[in-house]
Parts: sequence; C-alpha cells; structure tokens
Amino acid sequence: MIEFAADTGLKPGDSHRYLQQRKKMIKEQIISRGVRSSRVLKAIESVPRHRFVDEGSEGNAYDDTPLPIGESQTISQPFIVAYMTAALDLRGGEKVLEVGTGSGYQAAVLAELVNEVYSIEINENLIIEVALRLKKMGIGNIDLRFGDGYQGWQEEAPFDCIVVTAAPDHIPPSLVEQLRVGGRMVIPVGDSEQELVLVTKRQDGTYHRESRIPVRFVPMLRQTERNN
Ligand code: SAH
Repeated sequence: MIEFAADTGLKPGDSHRYLQQRKKMIKEQIISRGVRSSRVLKAIESVPRHRFVDEGSEGNAYDDTPLPIGESQTISQPFIVAYMTAALDLRGGEKVLEVGTGSGYQAAVLAELVNEVYSIEINENLIIEVALRLKKMGIGNIDLRFGDGYQGWQEEAPFDCIVVTAAPDHIPPSLVEQLRVGGRMVIPVGDSEQELVLVTKRQDGTYHRESRIPVRFVPMLRQTERNN
C-alpha cells in the first residue's frame, strides 16, 4: 500500500480512503442491484478504480456513473462492470477476450479472476496509456493489442469467454466463431437503444441469445471508419 501511495503521489491515507469508498460502492451500487457473486465482488474490491480515470476525476471514481477516460471514451459505471463480469460466471481457468480496452479497468477486474486476459482496443493512444498503467501497477496477465475487435483475436482463439464494451448493431460473426463451444459472451447490441445480450455457443456452432438489461455504450467502430 505504501508503494502504491508513493507511485501515485498520494498520501498513504488516501489508499485507505479509496478502499472505504470502494466498499461503499460495492454495497450501495452493486450488491443492492443484485450482483452477489463473492468472487466478482472481491475482484472489484481489489482493483483501485481511481487509477483508471482521468487525472482530476479520481474523486469521482466511485460514483454511480460512467466517467471520461480521454479520447471521448468512457469507463463504464461500476455496476455495469460488475454485472457483465458476473454474467460470465468465471471459475478461474478461463481464457478471456475483452473488446474495447478503454482505460483497462474491466480488463484489470477480469485479471483478478482468471489467469489469461486478452484485450483489444481500436484507439492507439488509449492502448499506449493502458500498457503504461498496467506496467506501473504490476499487472502482468493482460495481453493488449491495437486493432479492430470486431474481428476478434484469431491467433489466440478459441476463448472461453468474451466481453465486449463497445456496441455493434449486430453480433459480430467472428466473435461467435472464436468462442469455444459452451463458452459465453456478454455484449451490448444496438444503436441508440442497446441491450446487453448474453450469447452461449452451441455444439453445432450456432448460439443461444438472451437479452438481459438496457445499456448505453459507445458505438463499436470499424477500422475503416477510423481511417477516414
Ligand atoms: N472496457 C473499458 C471501457 C470501454 S469504452 C474500460 O474498462 O475502461 C469503449 C472502448 O471501445 C473505447 O476505448 C473505444 O475506443 C473502443 N472501441 C470501439 N470500437 C472498437 C473496436 N472495433 N475494436 C476495439 N475497440 C473498440
């Protein structure tokens, strides 16, 4: 904890204060809305969310809201991260892909729960920042890649679970393909109105689709759109 304080320029008491804020956030925003998985709650308690938000927003890191992370992108509301993570029902041995690294926060929560996390981000500036942040924090089990996550990460497939944190208007076929049979994917789907969908891959390669809750994510971009 002292190293952490030294590393961020915070006084040692600050890390304790943030831990108290995290505990309060878990109780009031997450457990109260029905996420009860003790493994997920413990992972969220372990990850210092204030280190993933924009400089100057640390004081709001535990608020019940999404926050800016630069490049016009946002870190999701804490409850949504908890909900999506819980939907994957991770046991520890899974290989997980995240599409939309953003600040790296969701990836860091996943990295508390499983050994292997792969995260792909289309914005080069964000991915460079995340690589530095994770290194500084000593988180070593997240592989990052700069690219269009609509295509997935073919070389590392199949994945046991996939979490998508930018919204396409349909389920990307390559992501279903790269999901192991029996594997789960949680993904926001839609344009202005989006729903969080839980996809389970069947033996025959098709998938079961279950709509969960209404959500609002930034749209999933495609590589060609960024090159315009
Ligand atoms: N999971 C992030 C929040 C994601 S915000 C966190 O915990 O902070 C959505 C992110 O998806 C943005 O950073 C955006 O640049 C990225 N994104 C949008 N389209 C993408 C695509 N096709 N492939 C990969 N990343 C994409």
